Amino acid sequence: MAIVLYPGSFDPVSNGHVDVATRAASLFDRLIIGVFDSPQKRLLFSTEERVEMVKKAVAHLPNVQVEAYTTLTIQLARELGARIIIRGLRMGSDFEWEFDMALMNKKLAPEIDTLCFMADLEYQFLSSSLLKETAQGGGCLDELVPKHVAVALREKFSSGASL
Ligand code: ADP
Repeated sequence: MAIVLYPGSFDPVSNGHVDVATRAASLFDRLIIGVFDSPQKRLLFSTEERVEMVKKAVAHLPNVQVEAYTTLTIQLARELGARIIIRGLRMGSDFEWEFDMALMNKKLAPEIDTLCFMADLEYQFLSSSLLKETAQGGGCLDELVPKHVAVALREKFSSGASL
């Protein structure tokens, strides 16, 4: 059985993430989405909130599971028995960082490979940080995030959160 791990911050999950998860889930037996507890980024949502939003976003995919993690990604992959780490690649912005990370992970865990999915044309420009800025300014997020994520973003900013 092929188990693969899709790790990320998902602050919050977007339709670009869901697209990658959907494509990966159709190719492998089981996909585990790992929500990293403490990325080197300023987070808007708590780990619990991020996990809940991802769970709801992929609830229609029966072979997908979501969990939070605090360890190195390769450590989680090993614990899960996943030999493949899934990542998404947007044009221009992601390549160097993803390449560095894949090489570091390969150095640390030679048995694990990173597999990148090209972001769908429709979601190339879509990043969680741009989403947050747009939501803070009151912009419309239809077709960019699942409905419950748009609601959560609106609630966050109307309750006084700032970036
Ligand atoms: P991280 O902090 O690990 O980069 P993110 O939640 O920002 O976590 O992204 C997780 C993965 O999803 C990364 O590989 C990122 O490149 C990819 N990704 C982000 N946005 C999109 C998108 N719009 N389309 C496809 N992949 C994406």
